[in-house]
Amino acid sequence: MFSFAITKKSKKSSARLGIIKTSHGQIETPAFIGVATQGVIKTLDSKELKNAGLQAVISNTFHLHLKPGEEIISKNGGLNKYADLKFPTMTDSGGYQVFSLGFGRDYGTGKILKNKENEKITQGHQPKNITITENGVWFKSPINGSKIFIGPRESIKIQEKIGADIIFSFDECPSPLADYKYNQKALERTHNWARICLKEKKSDQAIYGIVQGGKFKDLRIQSAQFIGSLPFDGFGIGGEFGNNKKIMEKMIGWATKELPEEKPRHLLGIGKLEDIPKIIKQGIDTFDCTIPTHYARHGYGFINKKTNIKNQNEKWRKYEKIDMNKTKYIDDSSPLDKSCDCYVCKTYTRSFLNHLIRAKEITGLKLLTFHNLYYFNKIVENIRNEIKKGNF
Ligand SMILES: [Zn+2]
Repeated sequence: MFSFAITKKSKKSSARLGIIKTSHGQIETPAFIGVATQGVIKTLDSKELKNAGLQAVISNTFHLHLKPGEEIISKNGGLNKYADLKFPTMTDSGGYQVFSLGFGRDYGTGKILKNKENEKITQGHQPKNITITENGVWFKSPINGSKIFIGPRESIKIQEKIGADIIFSFDECPSPLADYKYNQKALERTHNWARICLKEKKSDQAIYGIVQGGKFKDLRIQSAQFIGSLPFDGFGIGGEFGNNKKIMEKMIGWATKELPEEKPRHLLGIGKLEDIPKIIKQGIDTFDCTIPTHYARHGYGFINKKTNIKNQNEKWRKYEKIDMNKTKYIDDSSPLDKSCDCYVCKTYTRSFLNHLIRAKEITGLKLLTFHNLYYFNKIVENIRNEIKKGNF
């Protein structure tokens, strides 16, 4: 079961409020989606995720295929039951691994390009460890080096067995270093694969098509028009968004303007705090990113710079992340974030958190992960309220 309804459209931007309904519950959009690569957000269980305000998670098809394998998950009732996830779930298609295990690894680049402008990947180039063909991709297992083939059919079969509420079509996420010709060719593959994925899917899971096209306006528009014309339940926007954060918004807008308005849009793997308001203003309904959980595991907590912010909507401009490994917090009896009403901030001092982090106690990472997720979710909740009030 899947539905999406827009409940309000902003008059000030392309932002919208909506509700995605699935058989495991609903998502009030815009929403931050937690990244549960292995079916779990490290250190937290389902109940804690809900208490942190999380509405849904996205897991990784490639990694779950490697271990424990989709057969095991299926035998145990599917991802939601297996991992006790009592809210909507998504799986990405494995397309991102075409990048992260391919050119991403070869050139050490993330999705936002930095100082690599002189390197170019052109048509016909292949990454060192994977082989991209017209039918799919040969991966090398990071576990034992064995060859693994995933194409659109394989990806859908795996995702059907994993059984998330929302699945994604298999795509090629090109490197930010890929030139126009490479992107054009990769887009052809992604579009072919999208059609195959739709045909292959037999389950009643919702399926999102993925828009690619890199930093090239005509390709982004072409991709959004083509993918948008197919009978997908929603759309993912993947790939890179240029080497300049300022143009990211514009690039997202190229895609969202072409996509059918009545269907949900998910931005894959982008969601720094300062980006969140911008992407929501471009009409993004859901987005996932590892930042709150990743930083928590390195001992960082996100906090408001000032505690007397009247306009909640302005919060993202005043955040900072503090390193709880630093000895200066050992005698700090204030809460992690004075303005936060999460149970971590209401219960513990910076001193205790600092002590746990430095003593390498897992609970320290757990408390920071909880707070950071709560903090991100609160910001998105505030934005929802501002859209409701007509201020955003
Ligand atoms: Zn807190």
